[in-house]
Amino acid sequence: MDLLVCPLCKGPLGHDHATHELVCAADRLAFPIRDGIAVMLESEARNLDAPPPGSTNAASPSADGNGAV
Ligand SMILES: [Zn+2]
Repeated sequence: MDLLVCPLCKGPLGHDHATHELVCAADRLAFPIRDGIAVMLESEARNLDAPPPGSTNAASPSADGNGAV
């Protein structure tokens, strides 16, 4: 595989084998790898500081009524 760099800062990218993403620690962005091809588009990148999909309620107070934490 060619050495890939961040399209924004031209810095080196780390390969996250768990999520199949190329991660730029400087920009806090993760670029997806689809069908073995890295998608080096800022518009496709995931912000590492944003909560992952499916946990939209994680930051909200418990609305269950039980208040179990
Ligand atoms: Zn970068």
